[in-house]
Amino acid sequence: MTAPTGDVVERAAAGFTDQYDARPTGLWAAPGRVNLIGEHTDYNDGFVLPFALPMRTVVAADRRDDEHWTVWSELSGETITFATDDVAEPGRVTGWGAYVAGVVWALRDAGHAVPGARLAIASDVPLGAGLSSSAALESAVLAALLDLGGLELPAEGQPRLAQRAENVYVGAPTGIMDQSAVIRCRAGHALFLDCRDESVEHIPFDPDAAGLTVLVIDSHAPHRHADGEYAARRRSCEAAAKALGVPALRDVTVDELDAALARLDDAETRRRVRHVVTEDQRVLDTVALLRADRVRDIGPLLTASHVSMRDDFEITVPEIDTAVEAALSAGALGARMTGGGFGGCVLALVETDGVEAVADAVRTAYADRNYTAPTATPVLPSPGATRLR
Ligand code: ADP
Ligand code: MG
Repeated sequence: MTAPTGDVVERAAAGFTDQYDARPTGLWAAPGRVNLIGEHTDYNDGFVLPFALPMRTVVAADRRDDEHWTVWSELSGETITFATDDVAEPGRVTGWGAYVAGVVWALRDAGHAVPGARLAIASDVPLGAGLSSSAALESAVLAALLDLGGLELPAEGQPRLAQRAENVYVGAPTGIMDQSAVIRCRAGHALFLDCRDESVEHIPFDPDAAGLTVLVIDSHAPHRHADGEYAARRRSCEAAAKALGVPALRDVTVDELDAALARLDDAETRRRVRHVVTEDQRVLDTVALLRADRVRDIGPLLTASHVSMRDDFEITVPEIDTAVEAALSAGALGARMTGGGFGGCVLALVETDGVEAVADAVRTAYADRNYTAPTATPVLPSPGATRLR
């Protein structure tokens, strides 16, 4: 498939008109997200610090009178239609349409009178790269359906609903971070999310003002065994919390870590626990530095997070480690894998005048090893889901 050209908003609007021979009532957008730091902490009731990307998914839509939903996505060029029977219980719509049907199902399940609708979707968020195209899709659809139906659902409740669409209808066991970030992030800020009580704080994050750039490097590495490994990590964390007699690993602090590790007899479990506990602390340390306007100083925390994921949580792959090492040796202040692991993207904090050198170094390292060429994109913390017009 060739990448679509032109502005994503115009593509969604034009797609709507082509498909339905009508003008949409409105346009809604939801961004992808990248996690600055805090990996595999979400399902341990811990802390994460994502920010929204400039790349986004746009939904053009109008309301229809019957309870049918017709959805076109530029991605596959397909149009799918489903009705109330298909959203009576999870799993009846499969493929990409499940993410849309899942939102309708979750809204109806929560007692909302969801209007029938026609939707056209276009997106700049790369799929399956760990930048949360799935949450962007769900959240843009959710925003559209809420507005079209005049439904009341406060922003704080929206992530949980979109997450249910993905967990229950699609059947993907993900934490609350993605939808929270996509829906609640603000431009110029990272979202400090406590995954236990879902409280958020908007932390100013303006790398540009500090002469810095965040580069997102897509490794294009295929996700190998990602689902099974994710489930295994989750199980191991849950078992460790149980063995330690705490509700979740979030309840172990770095000061208590050595004592906790001494109570676990399995070396692999000890490594898993050490990652989660130290990663929670790195999120707190990053937040403290950003609050003190010390953006540049977060670099070592990013790199330490990577080392922990590589050696203790064991979720990186050679392509990812190569990108991190190349970025650091070309002068990045910090670099880490971001996302669930086993592929996906690397995030690097770079002096703005050194962006090309870092991107070149990663490309060269990939070429030397015959890896698929990576892409490096500078990103700024962007707004969360919103109505465009
Ligand atoms: P990620 O969220 O990291 O991009 P996921 O595997 O969670 O990866 O979600 C990717 C899936 O979401 C795609 O395979 C597709 O089914 C669906 N999806 C995301 N964006 C779109 C879109 N614009 N149109 C259709 N389907 C999409
Ligand atoms: Mg996803």
